Amino acid sequence: MISVAIDGPSGAGKSSMAKRLAQELGYTYVDTGAMYRTIGLFALQNGKDPADAAAVAALLPALKLDIKLEGGAQHIWLNGTDVSEAIRAEQVGMAASAVGAQPAVRAFLLDTQRQLAARQNVLMDGRDIGTVVLPDATVKIYLTASAPARATRRLKELQGKGVQADYATVLADIEQRDYQDTHRAIAPLKQAADAQVVDTSDIGIEDSYALLKKTILSRLG
Ligand code: C5P
Repeated sequence: MISVAIDGPSGAGKSSMAKRLAQELGYTYVDTGAMYRTIGLFALQNGKDPADAAAVAALLPALKLDIKLEGGAQHIWLNGTDVSEAIRAEQVGMAASAVGAQPAVRAFLLDTQRQLAARQNVLMDGRDIGTVVLPDATVKIYLTASAPARATRRLKELQGKGVQADYATVLADIEQRDYQDTHRAIAPLKQAADAQVVDTSDIGIEDSYALLKKTILSRLG
């Protein structure tokens, strides 16, 4: 099986580009962030602090997570409800980052992620795919952009959806998430030694996509 691991900070465009490229290559796109978001959402729905590791671990046995691939797109179901849209809220992203620091949560998801890659050709995005989940991935990419560049894009995206937001808050959220993701003790966000860096700080979305695609294709041989 061929596996392409794409890691990087939030807001670097991993999901949108990985989804599109997976479709072009005929691979299955696996969004691991959605899995952490679903656990974060479940904690919030149950009135638990997502940073409370004991409370979150106690919830895990009651959580049934289903990944369904519909037309190449990943849909995620939480205890029988499709939460693919609900998990996109900003607050859920923060909750995901909090639960993602907990060993019980990472252990809970690791098998699911590896099994998905064992059964089909995948393009999997996350924070620890090249370092922990698929250390033998065929291609590893570290997709990044500066925090201000990511904040500018995120602000535009939010405004496009009619969501009230300001640059300073969006940038602060991104910086906080970067800090949490890179400083946690378990599976922190970091570039794998054998990953190819793709930095999109100074280029637009189409050029970023072209660069990512070229980099991956050249490594697939
Ligand atoms: O990629 P996305 O923004 O959806 O991820 C949400 C959060 O889930 C991240 O900030 C990160 O803390 C966590 N995550 C993780 N490991 C992954 C994917 C996401 O810890 N493989």
